[in-house]
Amino acid sequence: MSEPTTVGPIRIGIDLGGSKIEAAALSRDGVILVRHRVPTPRDDYWRTLTAIAGLIEQVETRTGPAASVGVGIPGTLSPATGLVKNANSVCLIGRPLADDLQRLLDRPVRFENDANCFALSEARDGAGQGYRLVFGVILGTGTGGGIVVDGHVWGGRNAIGGEWGHNPLPWPCPGEHPGPRCYCGKTGCIETFLSGPGLAEDHKRVTGQRVAPARIVASAAAGDAAAEATLARYDDRLARALASLINVLDPDVIVLGGGLSNLDRLYEAVPRLWGAYVFSDQVVTTLVPPAHGDSSGVRGAAWLWEA
Ligand SMILES: [Zn+2]
Repeated sequence: MSEPTTVGPIRIGIDLGGSKIEAAALSRDGVILVRHRVPTPRDDYWRTLTAIAGLIEQVETRTGPAASVGVGIPGTLSPATGLVKNANSVCLIGRPLADDLQRLLDRPVRFENDANCFALSEARDGAGQGYRLVFGVILGTGTGGGIVVDGHVWGGRNAIGGEWGHNPLPWPCPGEHPGPRCYCGKTGCIETFLSGPGLAEDHKRVTGQRVAPARIVASAAAGDAAAEATLARYDDRLARALASLINVLDPDVIVLGGGLSNLDRLYEAVPRLWGAYVFSDQVVTTLVPPAHGDSSGVRGAAWLWEA
């Protein structure tokens, strides 16, 4: 076995995603010592568990045994039943993931929603560092959110704290109501407008053309008026969605994550627009890009265990 690369407890974070599972070992001071990833076994619960166990074994050949393990999952563990709920990875839904994985790994394992892991990573030593109340937003395949207070995830009584994506888009304009149908069973959810697929669908509804979000952004930059209009609608919808959140939570900082957080214009346009909707004479909340990008999932999962 190779010698440990750092002194102190090693924390392993697992990011269990729909297409890949990633593992990383974090040193006491938040440095990633080693990381591995494998494709997520498709629709196979037990193969998913053994893939996680295999990654941990691989990491521990470098870091030594008995690291703490935190896992970021799509969805959450129901406080009522202990089973996975609200996951878009269907093979996890209704499974006793915590019991099964802890038995397999022979140690306690902490679990948290992936958006909460993102928020925790950014709050601990990322773009939200130094702020007491951090809201992390994922704008990607879906639209998730997580709340971190004083360095700890605020999961909530029903383990849905921060799940703003399935609230309706507030202050709807004509044409936005009742809105697109959402997989959750409702219509007009924030996610149906502000996820990547939601952005592409909106562009198609107006222009008749199916274009990937990255192409819409490139076309707008090249002067395409229709693409620019699509992004302007997106700016205003995000401003409204975050304004309704600021009215309730009033966070110090909002950190964007997910693929659409790469859209630089959001950090200028959205704070300029949200003042019209927030119930305050002025809004000093800051909107910032993530510091850790794609690493936030594993980092946040590792941070579920204190040093
Ligand atoms: Zn929904």
